[in-house]
Amino acid sequence: MLQGVLKAVRTGIIVFDAEQRIVLWNNWVEQHSRLPADSVIGKAFTEVFPDMTDGRTHVAITEALRNNFASLLSQTLNKAPFPLYSTPADAAAGARMQQAVHVMPLHVETLPRHCLVQITDVSMAVSRERKLREQAVELQSQSLVDGLTGIANRRRFDLHLDHEFRNAKRNASPLSLIMIDVDYFKNYNDNYGHQRGDECLVQIAASLDRVLNRANDLVARYGGEEFAVILPNTNEDGALQVAEAMRAEVESLTLAHAFSGVAEYVTVSLGVSTLTPEHLAKTSSLVRGADRALYQAKRSGRNCVVVHADTSTVRV
Ligand code: GH3
Ligand code: MG
Ligand code: MG
Repeated sequence: MLQGVLKAVRTGIIVFDAEQRIVLWNNWVEQHSRLPADSVIGKAFTEVFPDMTDGRTHVAITEALRNNFASLLSQTLNKAPFPLYSTPADAAAGARMQQAVHVMPLHVETLPRHCLVQITDVSMAVSRERKLREQAVELQSQSLVDGLTGIANRRRFDLHLDHEFRNAKRNASPLSLIMIDVDYFKNYNDNYGHQRGDECLVQIAASLDRVLNRANDLVARYGGEEFAVILPNTNEDGALQVAEAMRAEVESLTLAHAFSGVAEYVTVSLGVSTLTPEHLAKTSSLVRGADRALYQAKRSGRNCVVVHADTSTVRV
Protein backbone atom coordinates (compact mmCIF):
# COMPACT_ATOMS: atom_id res chain seq x y z
CA MET A 1 0.00 0.00 0.00
CA LEU A 2 2.84 2.36 0.88
CA GLN A 3 4.27 1.81 -2.58
CA GLY A 4 0.89 2.65 -4.06
CA VAL A 5 0.65 5.87 -2.03
CA LEU A 6 4.17 6.97 -2.99
CA LYS A 7 3.24 6.43 -6.60
CA ALA A 8 -0.09 8.23 -6.40
CA VAL A 9 0.72 11.39 -4.41
CA ARG A 10 0.89 14.66 -6.31
CA THR A 11 3.93 15.74 -4.37
CA GLY A 12 7.55 15.13 -5.15
CA ILE A 13 9.28 12.92 -2.59
CA ILE A 14 13.02 12.41 -2.57
CA VAL A 15 14.89 10.74 0.29
CA PHE A 16 18.64 11.08 0.80
CA ASP A 17 20.74 8.86 3.04
CA ALA A 18 23.43 10.13 5.41
CA GLU A 19 25.88 10.41 2.51
CA GLN A 20 23.37 12.46 0.50
CA ARG A 21 22.74 9.65 -1.91
CA ILE A 22 19.27 9.28 -3.35
CA VAL A 23 17.42 6.30 -1.90
CA LEU A 24 13.86 7.21 -2.88
CA TRP A 25 12.56 9.07 -5.95
CA ASN A 26 8.83 8.83 -6.35
CA ASN A 27 6.68 8.70 -9.44
CA TRP A 28 5.81 12.42 -9.36
CA VAL A 29 9.51 13.38 -9.45
CA GLU A 30 10.12 10.90 -12.27
CA GLN A 31 7.33 12.49 -14.27
CA HIS A 32 8.35 16.09 -13.80
CA SER A 33 12.11 15.64 -13.99
CA ARG A 34 11.86 13.10 -16.83
CA LEU A 35 14.53 11.07 -14.99
CA PRO A 36 13.49 7.50 -14.13
CA ALA A 37 14.21 6.34 -10.57
CA ASP A 38 16.65 3.69 -11.86
CA SER A 39 18.87 6.38 -13.32
CA VAL A 40 19.28 8.34 -10.06
CA ILE A 41 18.96 5.89 -7.15
CA GLY A 42 22.32 5.54 -5.39
CA LYS A 43 23.70 8.71 -6.93
CA ALA A 44 24.79 11.70 -4.84
CA PHE A 45 22.82 14.97 -4.74
CA THR A 46 25.70 16.84 -6.37
CA GLU A 47 25.94 14.29 -9.16
CA VAL A 48 22.25 14.52 -10.07
CA PHE A 49 21.96 18.26 -9.43
CA PRO A 50 25.45 19.67 -10.12
CA ASP A 51 24.04 23.17 -10.60
CA MET A 52 22.58 23.13 -7.09
CA THR A 53 25.85 22.34 -5.32
CA ASP A 54 26.19 24.59 -2.25
CA GLY A 55 22.91 26.30 -3.12
CA ARG A 56 20.15 26.89 -0.53
CA THR A 57 18.52 23.48 -1.04
CA HIS A 58 21.85 21.68 -0.74
CA VAL A 59 22.69 23.59 2.43
CA ALA A 60 19.24 22.73 3.85
CA ILE A 61 19.79 19.02 3.15
CA THR A 62 23.22 19.11 4.78
CA GLU A 63 21.72 20.88 7.82
CA ALA A 64 18.92 18.33 8.10
CA LEU A 65 21.37 15.42 8.03
CA ARG A 66 24.04 16.97 10.21
CA ASN A 67 22.08 19.08 12.68
CA ASN A 68 18.56 17.66 12.54
CA PHE A 69 17.17 20.97 11.19
CA ALA A 70 14.01 21.18 9.14
CA SER A 71 13.46 24.02 6.68
CA LEU A 72 10.93 25.43 4.30
CA LEU A 73 12.76 27.16 1.47
CA SER A 74 11.58 30.71 0.98
CA GLN A 75 9.36 31.10 -2.07
CA THR A 76 10.74 34.52 -2.90
CA LEU A 77 14.38 33.45 -2.82
CA ASN A 78 14.00 30.02 -4.46
CA LYS A 79 11.17 30.07 -6.98
CA ALA A 80 12.22 26.95 -8.86
CA PRO A 81 15.23 25.21 -7.30
CA PHE A 82 14.85 21.74 -8.88
CA PRO A 83 14.90 21.22 -12.65
CA LEU A 84 11.23 20.17 -12.70
CA TYR A 85 8.61 21.06 -15.31
CA SER A 86 4.80 21.13 -15.04
CA THR A 87 4.21 20.01 -18.63
CA PRO A 88 6.27 18.57 -21.49
CA ALA A 89 5.81 21.89 -23.29
CA ASP A 90 7.31 23.75 -20.32
CA ALA A 91 10.20 21.26 -20.30
CA ALA A 92 10.84 21.92 -23.99
CA ALA A 93 10.77 25.65 -23.34
CA GLY A 94 12.98 25.29 -20.26
CA ALA A 95 10.30 26.92 -18.06
CA ARG A 96 10.61 25.38 -14.59
CA MET A 97 7.61 24.90 -12.31
CA GLN A 98 7.37 27.15 -9.26
CA GLN A 99 8.06 25.00 -6.23
CA ALA A 100 7.46 24.90 -2.51
CA VAL A 101 10.27 22.81 -1.01
CA HIS A 102 10.26 21.32 2.51
CA VAL A 103 13.48 19.75 3.72
CA MET A 104 13.34 17.69 6.93
CA PRO A 105 15.36 15.12 8.82
CA LEU A 106 13.95 11.61 8.64
CA HIS A 107 14.50 9.05 11.35
CA VAL A 108 14.78 5.54 10.08
CA GLU A 109 15.06 2.85 12.73
CA THR A 110 18.59 1.49 13.27
CA LEU A 111 19.93 3.54 10.31
CA PRO A 112 21.79 6.84 10.40
CA ARG A 113 19.59 9.92 9.88
CA HIS A 114 18.08 10.39 6.43
CA CYS A 115 16.66 13.49 4.80
CA LEU A 116 13.20 13.84 3.28
CA VAL A 117 12.61 16.46 0.59
CA GLN A 118 9.01 17.25 -0.38
CA ILE A 119 8.27 19.33 -3.44
CA THR A 120 4.89 20.81 -4.44
CA ASP A 121 3.95 22.55 -7.65
CA VAL A 122 2.76 26.05 -6.71
CA SER A 123 2.78 27.51 -10.23
CA MET A 124 -1.03 27.72 -10.28
CA ALA A 125 -1.23 29.33 -6.85
CA VAL A 126 1.47 31.82 -7.76
CA SER A 127 -0.15 32.85 -11.01
CA ARG A 128 -3.58 33.03 -9.34
CA GLU A 129 -2.15 35.23 -6.62
CA ARG A 130 -0.54 37.51 -9.19
CA LYS A 131 -3.80 37.76 -11.10
CA LEU A 132 -5.71 38.62 -7.92
CA ARG A 133 -3.15 41.26 -7.04
CA GLU A 134 -3.36 42.76 -10.52
CA GLN A 135 -7.16 42.77 -10.30
CA ALA A 136 -7.07 44.48 -6.91
CA VAL A 137 -4.84 47.24 -8.29
CA GLU A 138 -7.07 47.54 -11.34
CA LEU A 139 -10.24 47.73 -9.22
CA GLN A 140 -8.68 50.35 -7.00
CA SER A 141 -7.82 52.50 -9.99
CA GLN A 142 -11.38 52.10 -11.27
CA SER A 143 -12.95 53.02 -7.95
CA LEU A 144 -15.26 56.01 -8.00
CA VAL A 145 -15.73 56.41 -4.25
CA ASP A 146 -13.45 58.24 -1.82
CA GLY A 147 -12.18 55.78 0.77
CA LEU A 148 -12.38 58.14 3.75
CA THR A 149 -15.63 60.04 3.27
CA GLY A 150 -17.65 57.68 1.08
CA ILE A 151 -18.61 60.48 -1.33
CA ALA A 152 -17.45 60.60 -4.97
CA ASN A 153 -13.70 60.69 -5.50
CA ARG A 154 -11.65 62.83 -7.88
CA ARG A 155 -11.96 60.27 -10.68
CA ARG A 156 -15.74 60.29 -10.48
CA PHE A 157 -15.67 64.09 -10.38
CA ASP A 158 -13.61 64.27 -13.58
CA LEU A 159 -15.90 61.81 -15.37
CA HIS A 160 -19.08 63.53 -14.20
CA LEU A 161 -17.83 67.00 -15.09
CA ASP A 162 -16.94 65.82 -18.56
CA HIS A 163 -20.34 64.22 -18.98
CA GLU A 164 -22.32 67.22 -17.71
CA PHE A 165 -20.19 69.57 -19.75
CA ARG A 166 -21.24 67.82 -22.93
CA ASN A 167 -24.88 67.77 -21.76
CA ALA A 168 -24.78 71.51 -21.08
CA LYS A 169 -23.44 72.18 -24.56
CA ARG A 170 -26.03 69.96 -26.19
CA ASN A 171 -28.95 71.40 -24.19
CA ALA A 172 -27.64 74.97 -24.11
CA SER A 173 -28.03 74.96 -20.34
CA PRO A 174 -25.82 76.64 -17.71
CA LEU A 175 -23.36 74.57 -15.68
CA SER A 176 -22.05 75.61 -12.24
CA LEU A 177 -19.13 74.46 -10.16
CA ILE A 178 -18.38 75.13 -6.49
CA MET A 179 -14.91 74.63 -5.04
CA ILE A 180 -14.74 74.31 -1.27
CA ASP A 181 -11.75 74.43 1.10
CA VAL A 182 -11.77 73.99 4.88
CA ASP A 183 -10.60 77.09 6.77
CA TYR A 184 -7.45 76.88 8.91
CA PHE A 185 -7.45 73.13 8.60
CA LYS A 186 -3.72 72.81 9.05
CA ASN A 187 -4.17 74.35 12.50
CA TYR A 188 -6.96 71.86 13.20
CA ASN A 189 -4.72 68.90 12.35
CA ASP A 190 -1.74 70.30 14.18
CA ASN A 191 -3.73 70.80 17.37
CA TYR A 192 -6.34 68.03 17.40
CA GLY A 193 -4.38 65.38 15.48
CA HIS A 194 -4.70 63.91 12.01
CA GLN A 195 -7.31 61.36 13.06
CA ARG A 196 -9.72 64.01 14.40
CA GLY A 197 -8.95 65.89 11.20
CA ASP A 198 -10.07 62.91 9.16
CA GLU A 199 -13.25 62.54 11.25
CA CYS A 200 -13.94 66.20 10.64
CA LEU A 201 -13.64 65.68 6.85
CA VAL A 202 -16.13 62.80 7.05
CA GLN A 203 -18.70 65.05 8.76
CA ILE A 204 -18.11 67.92 6.35
CA ALA A 205 -18.55 65.60 3.36
CA ALA A 206 -21.83 64.29 4.76
CA SER A 207 -23.16 67.78 5.45
CA LEU A 208 -22.28 69.01 1.94
CA ASP A 209 -24.03 65.97 0.51
CA ARG A 210 -27.17 66.70 2.57
CA VAL A 211 -27.63 70.04 0.86
CA LEU A 212 -27.93 68.53 -2.63
CA ASN A 213 -31.31 67.40 -3.93
CA ARG A 214 -31.12 66.91 -7.67
CA ALA A 215 -30.14 63.56 -9.13
CA ASN A 216 -27.32 64.93 -11.30
CA ASP A 217 -25.80 67.20 -8.65
CA LEU A 218 -22.54 65.76 -7.38
CA VAL A 219 -20.26 66.56 -4.45
CA ALA A 220 -16.80 65.02 -4.61
CA ARG A 221 -13.65 65.01 -2.55
CA TYR A 222 -11.40 66.93 -4.88
CA GLY A 223 -8.21 66.47 -2.89
CA GLY A 224 -7.08 66.42 0.79
CA GLU A 225 -9.44 68.91 2.45
CA GLU A 226 -10.95 70.30 -0.72
CA PHE A 227 -14.36 69.44 -2.10
CA ALA A 228 -16.01 70.24 -5.42
CA VAL A 229 -19.67 70.38 -6.40
CA ILE A 230 -21.06 70.02 -9.91
CA LEU A 231 -24.47 71.59 -10.49
CA PRO A 232 -25.88 70.89 -13.96
CA ASN A 233 -28.59 73.13 -15.37
CA THR A 234 -27.97 75.66 -12.60
CA ASN A 235 -27.31 79.36 -13.14
CA GLU A 236 -25.19 81.66 -11.03
CA ASP A 237 -28.01 82.57 -8.64
CA GLY A 238 -28.92 78.95 -8.08
CA ALA A 239 -25.29 77.97 -7.49
CA LEU A 240 -24.83 80.84 -5.05
CA GLN A 241 -27.84 79.62 -3.06
CA VAL A 242 -26.48 76.07 -2.91
CA ALA A 243 -23.02 77.34 -1.91
CA GLU A 244 -24.45 79.50 0.88
CA ALA A 245 -26.58 76.59 2.11
CA MET A 246 -23.44 74.45 2.24
CA ARG A 247 -21.48 77.12 4.10
CA ALA A 248 -24.28 77.40 6.67
CA GLU A 249 -24.67 73.62 6.98
CA VAL A 250 -20.98 73.14 7.78
CA GLU A 251 -21.06 76.00 10.29
CA SER A 252 -24.12 74.49 11.96
CA LEU A 253 -22.20 71.27 12.63
CA THR A 254 -20.48 73.37 15.35
CA LEU A 255 -17.31 71.28 15.25
CA ALA A 256 -15.15 73.09 17.80
CA HIS A 257 -12.04 74.70 16.28
CA ALA A 258 -10.26 76.78 18.88
CA PHE A 259 -7.41 77.48 16.47
CA SER A 260 -9.39 78.94 13.58
CA GLY A 261 -8.70 82.54 12.72
CA VAL A 262 -12.30 83.17 11.69
CA ALA A 263 -14.76 81.38 13.99
CA GLU A 264 -15.10 79.14 17.06
CA TYR A 265 -16.17 76.30 14.82
CA VAL A 266 -14.93 74.58 11.68
CA THR A 267 -15.92 76.60 8.61
CA VAL A 268 -15.39 76.44 4.86
CA SER A 269 -14.74 78.93 2.09
CA LEU A 270 -16.44 78.49 -1.27
CA GLY A 271 -15.81 79.68 -4.81
CA VAL A 272 -18.56 79.54 -7.45
CA SER A 273 -18.19 79.60 -11.20
CA THR A 274 -20.95 79.34 -13.81
CA LEU A 275 -20.63 78.93 -17.54
CA THR A 276 -23.51 79.70 -19.83
CA PRO A 277 -23.59 77.77 -23.10
CA GLU A 278 -22.13 80.55 -25.23
CA HIS A 279 -19.11 80.61 -22.94
CA LEU A 280 -18.73 76.87 -22.62
CA ALA A 281 -15.26 76.40 -23.94
CA LYS A 282 -13.42 73.92 -21.75
CA THR A 283 -14.02 72.28 -18.39
CA SER A 284 -10.70 73.72 -17.27
CA SER A 285 -12.01 77.28 -17.52
CA LEU A 286 -14.88 76.37 -15.21
CA VAL A 287 -12.48 74.84 -12.68
CA ARG A 288 -10.12 77.79 -12.96
CA GLY A 289 -12.96 80.23 -12.37
CA ALA A 290 -14.17 78.44 -9.24
CA ASP A 291 -10.58 78.20 -8.00
CA ARG A 292 -10.08 81.95 -8.41
CA ALA A 293 -13.34 82.65 -6.62
CA LEU A 294 -12.26 80.35 -3.78
CA TYR A 295 -8.98 82.23 -3.53
CA GLN A 296 -10.96 85.47 -3.32
CA ALA A 297 -13.14 83.96 -0.59
CA LYS A 298 -10.02 83.16 1.44
CA ARG A 299 -8.72 86.69 0.87
CA SER A 300 -12.03 88.21 1.87
CA GLY A 301 -11.87 86.65 5.32
CA ARG A 302 -12.97 82.98 4.86
CA ASN A 303 -16.27 81.34 5.92
CA CYS A 304 -17.88 82.95 2.89
CA VAL A 305 -18.95 82.45 -0.72
CA VAL A 306 -17.50 84.31 -3.70
CA VAL A 307 -18.89 84.10 -7.22
CA HIS A 308 -16.41 84.27 -10.05
CA ALA A 309 -17.27 87.09 -12.40
CA ASP A 310 -15.44 90.31 -13.03
CA THR A 311 -18.30 92.37 -11.72
CA SER A 312 -20.19 90.09 -9.32
CA THR A 313 -18.04 89.45 -6.30
CA VAL A 314 -20.58 88.58 -3.68
CA ARG A 315 -19.79 88.21 -0.05
CA VAL A 316 -22.33 86.42 2.09
P1 GH3 B 1 -6.82 78.01 4.68
O1 GH3 B 1 -7.85 78.56 5.58
O2 GH3 B 1 -6.05 79.06 3.95
O3 GH3 B 1 -7.35 76.98 3.75
O4 GH3 B 1 -5.76 77.33 5.66
P2 GH3 B 1 -5.43 75.80 5.79
O5 GH3 B 1 -4.65 75.58 7.00
O6 GH3 B 1 -6.68 74.98 5.66
O7 GH3 B 1 -4.52 75.64 4.52
P3 GH3 B 1 -4.65 74.55 3.41
O8 GH3 B 1 -5.95 74.65 2.71
O9 GH3 B 1 -3.42 74.66 2.58
O10 GH3 B 1 -4.67 73.25 4.31
C1 GH3 B 1 -4.11 72.07 3.96
C2 GH3 B 1 -4.05 71.26 5.21
O11 GH3 B 1 -5.14 70.35 5.29
C3 GH3 B 1 -2.82 70.38 5.22
C4 GH3 B 1 -3.22 69.25 6.07
O12 GH3 B 1 -2.89 69.58 7.42
C5 GH3 B 1 -4.72 69.20 5.97
N1 GH3 B 1 -5.17 68.04 5.21
C6 GH3 B 1 -5.17 67.88 3.87
N2 GH3 B 1 -5.66 66.67 3.54
C7 GH3 B 1 -5.99 66.05 4.69
C8 GH3 B 1 -6.54 64.76 5.00
O13 GH3 B 1 -6.86 63.93 4.15
N3 GH3 B 1 -6.73 64.47 6.31
C9 GH3 B 1 -6.42 65.36 7.27
N4 GH3 B 1 -6.64 65.01 8.54
N5 GH3 B 1 -5.90 66.54 7.01
C10 GH3 B 1 -5.68 66.90 5.75
MG1 MG C 1 -6.45 73.44 0.85
MG1 MG D 1 -7.81 74.90 3.89
